[in-house]
Amino acid sequence: MDISRRDFLKLSGASAGSFFVYKALAAGDVSACSAKAFPLEAKVAETTTMCAYCAGGCGAIVSTYADGIIKVEGDPDHPINRGSLCSKAQALAQLHQVDGEINPWRLTKPLYRRAGGDEWEEKTWDEAINDIAAKIKATRDANWISTEPGTAYTVNRTEAIASLGGAALDNEECYVLAKMLRALGLVYIEHQARI
Ligand code: SF4
Repeated sequence: MDISRRDFLKLSGASAGSFFVYKALAAGDVSACSAKAFPLEAKVAETTTMCAYCAGGCGAIVSTYADGIIKVEGDPDHPINRGSLCSKAQALAQLHQVDGEINPWRLTKPLYRRAGGDEWEEKTWDEAINDIAAKIKATRDANWISTEPGTAYTVNRTEAIASLGGAALDNEECYVLAKMLRALGLVYIEHQARI
């Protein structure tokens, strides 16, 4: 790449500017920066976590100030990604906040919409899990196939329930889930990441 003397001076100026912003931040002089200022004496916490977007299970370090996320970076000590993150993980902060505000759409409780209803009701996890378990049992009992129709072959299955897994499930979770679903007699078991 050809760089003229003028380009070189421009680049040098930009680099020096970046350096001074960095030095100003390091010295706690946030007034020198036009970006959103965080007083450095305030506590910026770093927490290790896992990316939730796919089964890769990459490790991340999330820096938080007050109740907001100010940075997400790959965890260099994590054995899977060793500091790298894909572009999807750059949006991890949006699980918590949108445009710097707490994400108003984030669900923290199960929501239930009755058949034919047009409103969502909040449920506790106990209520939701008990409801789901009762529906699985009733559907399974009502649609149990012990033997292949027209034969004496034992099959012990139900075709009335299907499971669609998500890409955020890791290998171990998929293994346990598949075991449980097979034990329930399901044959329609699919995973969203393959579709
Ligand atoms: S979405 Fe990207 S960063 Fe997140 S676990 Fe998957 S590969 Fe890793």
